[in-house]
Amino acid sequence: MKTIRLNGNKTAAASGPDRSFIASGLLLPAAHKASDLHLGATRISWGMTNRFSRTFSVFLAVVLGGAGGLRAAPLKVASLSTVLSDVARQVGGDKVQVDEIVRPGVDPHEFQPSPGDVERVAGADVVLVSGKGLEGYLAKLEEGGDAKKFVNVGDRVGTSLKLEDDGKTVDDPHWWHSVANVRRAVGVVRDAMIAADAADRDAFTANAAAYTGKLDALDKTIRLKVAGLPRDKRKLVTSHDAFQYFARDYGFKIYPIEGVSTAEEPSTRKVAELLSTIKKEKVKAVFFENTQNPKVISQITRETGAKVGGELYADGLGAADSDAATYEAMMLHNVNTLVNGLK
Ligand SMILES: [Zn+2]
Repeated sequence: MKTIRLNGNKTAAASGPDRSFIASGLLLPAAHKASDLHLGATRISWGMTNRFSRTFSVFLAVVLGGAGGLRAAPLKVASLSTVLSDVARQVGGDKVQVDEIVRPGVDPHEFQPSPGDVERVAGADVVLVSGKGLEGYLAKLEEGGDAKKFVNVGDRVGTSLKLEDDGKTVDDPHWWHSVANVRRAVGVVRDAMIAADAADRDAFTANAAAYTGKLDALDKTIRLKVAGLPRDKRKLVTSHDAFQYFARDYGFKIYPIEGVSTAEEPSTRKVAELLSTIKKEKVKAVFFENTQNPKVISQITRETGAKVGGELYADGLGAADSDAATYEAMMLHNVNTLVNGLK
């Protein structure tokens, strides 16, 4: 049985042009916002005040709730980022249903939405966008939809670091490797959920505060672990330039193999430069990423004697059965792998 939320906000949202609800055997035909809603033979004006909206909600609850089992439907949140899916679950709790459009292990640089994905996004109340240019396909999803429900989180978390991509300077999209940025993202997600579902404001606010506390503890833990690694050993060689925000916050120097996009193959010249840098800087270890082909990495280890430090999660969370299934776990995995590999 489909359910309908019984507060003013969501009742109005549920009256969008493409929805109808069957509840307790009563069909509520799809009605346009601010138009009339037909309920059996009764015609009720939909352009109502908040007070009337509440009264009407009670009326609906009485009419529809008779058969029992009617509950508030969760807010539908579609997420284009595995990190934001986790943030949405933390902040939304049982008040939201998170639909992961971009799933763990998928390369977000290469992702293209299927027609099914476009449909799922169209059916969502809120769409969380990673931002800073990561979703090149975004216009396709926004087309003909409600632009207001797209929340570009990355563009609101703070200063963008820059990258050279194909001769152009662009925003570095990997903002989530800074815990401070994710802390700000929690506030953006909380506010977006409240705007879409004011009735659950208290829950969203409390969940966001609790999760922010966890992020503060995570940030402290990472700083403590990094402090155990001498400064001249904080050198990070990975297969694409994803860790600038991490390096800025936690004091690492980065030697990237590729530019911003994983679609690039590193040039022979670039690899040769990197090989000599690794030897000169006495870099002890190089690192894989979860969505990368390790071919170049094995060439580097062969020719420089640096060891493989392990796998880093550069572009999002790991699968549910991995040790990086949540944002906190992913960051701890990365910092542990780095510190153990480089010390
Ligand atoms: Zn990336």
